[in-house]
Amino acid sequence: MKDKLKKILDEAMAQIDSSDRLDRLNEIKVSFLGKKGELTSVLKAMKDVAPEDRPKVGQLVNEARKTIEERLDEKREIFEKAILDEKLKSETIDVTLPGKKLAMGHSHPNTITLEEVEDIFVGMGYEVVEGPEVEYDYYNFEALNIPDNHPAKDEQDTFYITKDILLRSQTSSVQVHEMEKGKLPIRMIAPGRVFRSDEVDATHSPTFHQIEGLVIDKNITFADLKGTLQEFAKRLFGEDTKVKFRPHHFQFTEPSAEMDVTCFKCGGKGCRFCKGSGWVEILGCGMVHPHVLEMSGIDPEEYTGFAFGVGLERITLFKYEIDDMRLLYENDTRFLKQF
Ligand SMILES: [Zn+2]
Repeated sequence: MKDKLKKILDEAMAQIDSSDRLDRLNEIKVSFLGKKGELTSVLKAMKDVAPEDRPKVGQLVNEARKTIEERLDEKREIFEKAILDEKLKSETIDVTLPGKKLAMGHSHPNTITLEEVEDIFVGMGYEVVEGPEVEYDYYNFEALNIPDNHPAKDEQDTFYITKDILLRSQTSSVQVHEMEKGKLPIRMIAPGRVFRSDEVDATHSPTFHQIEGLVIDKNITFADLKGTLQEFAKRLFGEDTKVKFRPHHFQFTEPSAEMDVTCFKCGGKGCRFCKGSGWVEILGCGMVHPHVLEMSGIDPEEYTGFAFGVGLERITLFKYEIDDMRLLYENDTRFLKQF
């Protein structure tokens, strides 16, 4: 019996020592210590042992069981530690590795310019308003003093959707919406996209942006227009910028003018950029036509106002010395990165 126990114990130890994984230990435990295990079968054979030897044999069996259990526990700890070590190793973060750099974009030059213009006018107490890009013919033309069959309508190659609905060809339509609201006085700018069926070239595009401005209050004169736009030009292009107003004709303003600013590149001496004149045309403006006020329900005897419209791309190209408008729309990051 003693020999048999020793044989079982040796066999168990050998199996435990040579086991190579955690679940193998459980198999060994079952095969030696389980209900049908080898050690248990020795206890079952106790009836064949002489009664006086039974306590001795029982003690030996218990010792063997204890030895096997202890060795199993030792081995289990070794396996668990190895698994933990492996896990820690694979999950280690090397804080000295260089990080992944996120490429940060920035605003488009058109957006940079627009925000600058908005800041200037908001600083002067103006509101920034928006209007629909798909517009009634009435708001785009008729309410701006351009009736049907008027030649001024032909000057703008308009995209018509139906006979009465079009893609707005100018942001001036937003003026009419604001005046119709009947809340006076008005101090607003309306930046937005406009559409004309032009061929694409260095200075034309079927879609571009305008910034419309409108002021209506009591006692507004041409002096207010000049002072406001002069201040705008100085803040946008620099304190030394001079402005000049040339008489012009627009349907919805009277009198009307175009405003030139001194060439920022040569300071007015004349260069290639300003074609030798020293001046660059920058916007159209004028006093709101009394008939336009009337059509929107404003009494021209009580209220007067001025309006202006500036091409956003025009001043962006001017500001950044870009000579081709197409560059603004091609979304070539090699170009856009420069601003
Ligand atoms: Zn110049």
